[in-house]
Amino acid sequence: MAAPRDFRGHPASPGRAVGPVHRAGEPPAPSGLAGNGSDARAALEAAVSRAVHELRELSARADPESAGILDFQIELLLDGELLAPALARIGAGEGAALAFAAALNDQIDEMAGGGGEGEATHGDPFVLRAVDLMDLQHRVLDALAGRTRADFPPGAVYVGRDMPPSVFLAHDWSSGGAIALGAGSTASHVALLARARGVPMVVGLGALPGETGEPLLVDGTRGMACLHPDARQAASPSAPDLAPLLSPVPACEPAAWEPLRAASAVPDRPFLFANLDTLADLDTLDPAVVDGVGLVRTEFLLTSAAEALSEERHLAVYRRVLDHLAGKPVTLRMLDLGGDKALPGLTEGDPAGVLGTRGVRFLLAHPDLARIQARGLIRAAAHGPVSVLLPMVTLPAELAAMALLFDEEAVRLARQGIEGRRPPLGIMVEVPAAALTLDLFGQAAFFSVGSNDLMQYLAAAARDNPAVAPLYAGAETAMFRLLDLICAAARALGRPVSLCGDLAAEPAAVGRLLALGLDGLSVAPRRLPALRAALGAAFPALPPGRA
Ligand code: PEP
Ligand code: MG
Repeated sequence: MAAPRDFRGHPASPGRAVGPVHRAGEPPAPSGLAGNGSDARAALEAAVSRAVHELRELSARADPESAGILDFQIELLLDGELLAPALARIGAGEGAALAFAAALNDQIDEMAGGGGEGEATHGDPFVLRAVDLMDLQHRVLDALAGRTRADFPPGAVYVGRDMPPSVFLAHDWSSGGAIALGAGSTASHVALLARARGVPMVVGLGALPGETGEPLLVDGTRGMACLHPDARQAASPSAPDLAPLLSPVPACEPAAWEPLRAASAVPDRPFLFANLDTLADLDTLDPAVVDGVGLVRTEFLLTSAAEALSEERHLAVYRRVLDHLAGKPVTLRMLDLGGDKALPGLTEGDPAGVLGTRGVRFLLAHPDLARIQARGLIRAAAHGPVSVLLPMVTLPAELAAMALLFDEEAVRLARQGIEGRRPPLGIMVEVPAAALTLDLFGQAAFFSVGSNDLMQYLAAAARDNPAVAPLYAGAETAMFRLLDLICAAARALGRPVSLCGDLAAEPAAVGRLLALGLDGLSVAPRRLPALRAALGAAFPALPPGRA
């Protein structure tokens, strides 16, 4: 049996799959047949009509996003500008196929020379790329030659230099399979489609060997391919390799609550925010007595898998909160599922899993769910000042991955004509590794300390285990030392930092928390009166009725 051989590329769509190689065929050689002069012109026009007809048929069966890409190809074919150079060549005596192939080759060369093709870029996915023109070229040449496009076997791994979007769309992916490209781009149409359909894909693999039928493993999370994987490699789950996502780090928008500072009559007073767990909490929250909402635990707001998988439901509950707050800023935390937080149908919960696939780790492992929530959040942000908080972040790469996902969904919504606004993303500081490396999180718009989890991870004492409760409580000294570092790092980055764990609701701790220079404290509505009283003592100049 052949030995395994590894190849490194760029991750374009996460997940892993093993299947027999299907090597993409060479493009059809233009024959120059189909006549000259007026014959050739008529033959080319008929082939273009046939290609348009095929694309319309594909588009009618496709989901809205795929249909958008196919409609874009139809528009290109119907646009006289694309055909004009080919018709000019026919006018000069060339045959239809040669004229069309050569005319498109000129345009393809021009685009490929522009630098985008073949590179794993994170650019705008909705730009015309050389591969789109090649796709059209092959389709029209097939039509001219009277050939029908051959699909490839279900479950196979498509191996080629690049993949035309229409080949992806015509294929049935329900039996699995994957894509391994020698060139390609992470921002191409086909990469976008692969991510949306959950098809593992790696680009930039270079000259990948392997004949049709040989087994190939594609690990779209790590950006790797392995020819002839052994049984262990084929079975082992994919460990996320987030390194390729570490750069670039785009500038971020400020948190939705930052403008409050400038407007505050007492600029050094920390903001007083409420934590919300359910919509019923709104009944107990008078928006006049808070500066906004510092934490919405969306995993408690959406009470079933069906709700969590409904973009409309996300939007509806977020709008309820925004409407109640009447213009005050609202920080919505993405689903903190996994560990002890269950959502039957999505995760059954496992108290021992608090060190496992929880929070943002769970979301990145379930990108379809994350995309649904991101779309709900982006749409909600069009209706009020929304910031989005990511739970259980450990590495900057996790934030970068989620930021990319938000960027992509914001672009998709815009293309679909749906109102939205890309909200600023901040992180929960509740994993010691993140707390100690906050200086590396320049991509975060703000920070919110989750003292409940930070304390349990610092003390290695579960927050809900009475047997180790004294250790949990005893870690307070360590906690305050770390809070000092967190606040200093946030200040150095110029980002606001608040605290939304139960520590903020302990009146005895308020003095020490204020001394740290925290920008905000966020507590459950019923804990607000005590916190307001403690803050009032520190800021006697506050007007009555206001925190
Ligand atoms: C925390 O960990 O402090 C926090 C606010 O998040 P949760 O309690 O939901 O884990
Ligand atoms: Mg937490």
